[in-house]
Amino acid sequence: MFATPLDDTTLDLATRSYDTVLLGEGDTPLGHLRKQADIHQAHHTVSAHYRAVEQAQQALYVAIDHTINEFPATLGSVLWEEHWTGYPDPWLTEDANGFAVAHLGDGVWVHHTVTTSSCDDGHSVRWQVSERHTVTLIAPCSCGQGYRTAPIASEDELLDMVHEFTREPCSISKHGCPHPCGSAR
Ligand SMILES: [Zn+2]
Repeated sequence: MFATPLDDTTLDLATRSYDTVLLGEGDTPLGHLRKQADIHQAHHTVSAHYRAVEQAQQALYVAIDHTINEFPATLGSVLWEEHWTGYPDPWLTEDANGFAVAHLGDGVWVHHTVTTSSCDDGHSVRWQVSERHTVTLIAPCSCGQGYRTAPIASEDELLDMVHEFTREPCSISKHGCPHPCGSAR
């Protein structure tokens, strides 16, 4: 699970409100405003931290749950909680989903995330919320210059991609990589 840790100064400031700050006699109006701004920032930082922790933890559990249910013979059988690392939504947006990754060895990773979308069902004011799970395999390209990614929808696809990603020997290609791997060559 990944989230930026909080320092003591931030935690201390976040327990305060402006009224409880001991104002120095000699503080200028700008000085008072700075204290208020520091407290405001600390409250913001602490709530963002807990949002990150929650999103990362949620992403971890959702990934485990999804792979156990949808990939019971492969990912669900070999990846446990300690293999997965959960991350928060990169922008820490409220109600956004984080993602989780697990290393399968040799630089090959599996990435899981959930896309939540809501839409009007057209008949009432009720909104339908749907969740789409995306499992992606990420592997170093055999050209050694980039990474290849493949969306995985089933265990058969997973086995095919793992096979493809591991069977090609590393090569130094002089004429450009044949894969869409993001390499400059
Ligand atoms: Zn390549």
